[in-house]
This record gives sequence, structure tokens and C-alpha cells, in this order.
Amino acid sequence: MENTTERALNLKNTGKRRGVLLVLSSPSGAGKSTLSRLLLEDGHLGLSVSVTTRERRPSEVNGVHYHFITRKEFEQKRDNDELIEWAEVHGHYYGTLRETIETALASGRDMLFDIDYQGARQLQEKMPDDVVSVFILPPSMKELKSRLNRRAEDSQDVINLRLHNARGEIEHFKSYDYVIINQDLEQSFALIKAIHLAEAIKRRRCLYIDSFVKSLLDEKIE
Ligand code: 5GP
Repeated sequence: MENTTERALNLKNTGKRRGVLLVLSSPSGAGKSTLSRLLLEDGHLGLSVSVTTRERRPSEVNGVHYHFITRKEFEQKRDNDELIEWAEVHGHYYGTLRETIETALASGRDMLFDIDYQGARQLQEKMPDDVVSVFILPPSMKELKSRLNRRAEDSQDVINLRLHNARGEIEHFKSYDYVIINQDLEQSFALIKAIHLAEAIKRRRCLYIDSFVKSLLDEKIE
């Protein structure tokens, strides 16, 4: 059965509402991937699948988690202006395909972007009315370290590099619209859903409101 959130987001009204570009950033290990997965499973957001030159982790599927490409292919896309934003993160290139955003906005579909602060800044500059940005903080640096170790898909060198870079990433929290301390996964998930819902029904995104109000005022009540 359709729940209240589904009715409120009214996916059947697709096209009458301008889509939300929901950007999630955090240092590695703050819980962003788990939160992204929960949000995608919830079914109200599509994922922007980035291109990257990083090696695929065993659990990842090409085309689902990322489009894994070579450095040469990446540079070609970047030079052809196919990327709306891109950045070098932990020694690898990552970028968002321009096409993803164009399709999302044209269809009124809300999209999730799991990108770093450099990419978030570029998207905010380019689409200030569409981007809603959320930064996720770990409850402590100790917890961040143990979450990174628990993932066990990365080598110790990679873990150390990510831990080292975490402080620099956290310092960018002020350029985000919302900041969540991820102490409790369920609570953080509920908060992001609340942000998504409230942002989705902002007046400027609800393109159907003008004509609705017009018909409301034109309505004969006798
Ligand atoms: P990971 O290698 O753990 O998948 O991602 C490393 C970092 O790169 C994360 O902070 C992630 O948000 C960021 N990232 C992933 N895709 C993109 C992208 O398309 N653009 C930018 N700027 N960062 C990205």
C-alpha cells in the first residue's frame, strides 16, 4: 500500500514538480554508503552513477555503483564537457555525468549524489536552486576509524589515507545546507527522509501550484 511519504512526494505527479538534487557528502566511514543504500531502497530517489578511475571493489558492480573507466577515458569525458562536476579524491578521479542531471531535471525525478565537498561546491554553484546538500559527520574519529577497518575491502594503506584526509573533508561542513551527526543509523535515515520530503514540497519546486490556486479561486461555490 502507498504510504504517506509516497503520496506526499506524489511520484505520479512526475513532471509537475522540479526534482531535488540531493547531495550527500562525508568522510569515508561516516556511514554515507549505508544511508545512501537505505535511501535508494526506499524508492523515492534515483542514484547518480558517477564515473571513476578507482579500482572496483569486489562487492561493486560496474554501471550500478560506478562506471569504472580508465584515466584516459575520464580525461576525454572531462575535456568533452560531459562532466558537470569532477574532482580528484584520495588519488583517483571521480565525476558526475552532465546527462544524469539533465535527465533527472527534465523528468522531475529526485536524484541522490554521493559526492565529495569539491563536487558538492561545483553543483551548488551551477544549480543553486536544485541542489540540497547534506553533510554526514561520524560521532567520533575513533568510530570513523573502526568503521573504516570494519569495511575490510580496502588495504591498510587506503584506510590510512582516507583517515588522514577525513579532517580536511570535515572542515567543509559549513558549506552544506544540513549537517547530521550519524550516531544512530535509523535516526539519521529518518532525518534525511524528512529533509528530502520538506525540500521536495518547497513552493518553487511545485510547478503545479500556480494552476491549482488559479482553479481554486475560479471555483464556483454556489
Ligand atoms: P569511494 O571511493 O569510497 O567510493 O568514494 C570516495 C569519495 O569520492 C567519496 O567521498 C565519494 O562521495 C566521492 N565521490 C564519488 N563519486 C563522486 C563524483 O562523481 N564526484 C565527486 N566530486 N566525488 C565523488
